[in-house]
Amino acid sequence: MNVLVTGGAGYIGSVCTEELLNAGHAVTVYDNLTEGHRSAVDSRARFILGRPEVEGDLLKAVREAQSEAILHFAASALVGESMANPGKYFQNNVVNGLALLNAAVAAGVRKFVFSSTCATYGPPEKVPMTEELPQRPINPYGESKLMFERMLHWYHEIHGLEFVAFRYFNAAGASEQFGEHHRTETHLIPNVLKVPLGQAKQCEIYGTDYPTPDGTCIRDYIHVVDLAQAHILALAPGKQGFYNLGNGDGYSVRQVIQTCEQVTGCRIPAVEKPRRPGDPPRLVASAEKAMRELGWKPKFPRLQEMVATAWAWHRKHPQGYPD
Ligand code: UDP
Repeated sequence: MNVLVTGGAGYIGSVCTEELLNAGHAVTVYDNLTEGHRSAVDSRARFILGRPEVEGDLLKAVREAQSEAILHFAASALVGESMANPGKYFQNNVVNGLALLNAAVAAGVRKFVFSSTCATYGPPEKVPMTEELPQRPINPYGESKLMFERMLHWYHEIHGLEFVAFRYFNAAGASEQFGEHHRTETHLIPNVLKVPLGQAKQCEIYGTDYPTPDGTCIRDYIHVVDLAQAHILALAPGKQGFYNLGNGDGYSVRQVIQTCEQVTGCRIPAVEKPRRPGDPPRLVASAEKAMRELGWKPKFPRLQEMVATAWAWHRKHPQGYPD
């Protein structure tokens, strides 16, 4: 298929672009490079420098790419930042997202695949979390993604736009070529790996008084290549709806640090800090629906493998991407 990938210069979008190309799809990446990196775009893809805030820019790109499907990764995606600057999240994730949806409908795009998040649920009533749990986000990031999910629902009902929205849990790991490089890094695994890379003396634990066995937050980590595979499965005609993507295993912040120590063979000192606003204590997925309905099966379900591939990438690219 001809696929337009927004945010294809970012962490998950770059790996997904690579996997789409490997599977024989033709890919055009649309990215404004505020978060993404030009050198993270697979050389086999076409690149459009996006300006989504400019009227008509998205529709022009959708048409130029002769898009049959759109994979929409581009977003602002940091819980902490969204608690300080909610307007950025509603502008980028909702307003710019709506312009993309309208462009998809105007150009007759057949399939829309959206990067949603477990942050749309807020603190869950039970874990593992299934798709029908109530969605009550506790930060503007999760709220903005939920708003887009609701728009997708109505565009499907009214315009017949077929969509799959994936509620990602915590993406981790790397492919051989592409990995995680945020200009300001807030994520746990890349921050912890800065210690064995010699770029930090210690890592930080945000909150040790959560109602969890060791007092630190629990998350469900998923390998970025497994995430990418789910997107490819979603392109099949008739696939439609909301799906969780995770492994059903929760790891605490302390367990992640321990795994990083095992993989790298380095001791990683950690300092205990206060809680980060907006963080739910425990998020663990049930991805049974994706397995059952999409035939998705994670190839790298173990945290060890995620950290090992991340570590291999960071060792090869200690400064990340050059641009
Ligand atoms: N975290 C931490 N130290 C860090 C970065 C993150 O303790 O340097 C915690 C954070 O509070 C959360 C978990 O690790 O409980 C995962 O955070 P991350 O930012 O990687 O992903 P999120 O769950 O926010 O999407």
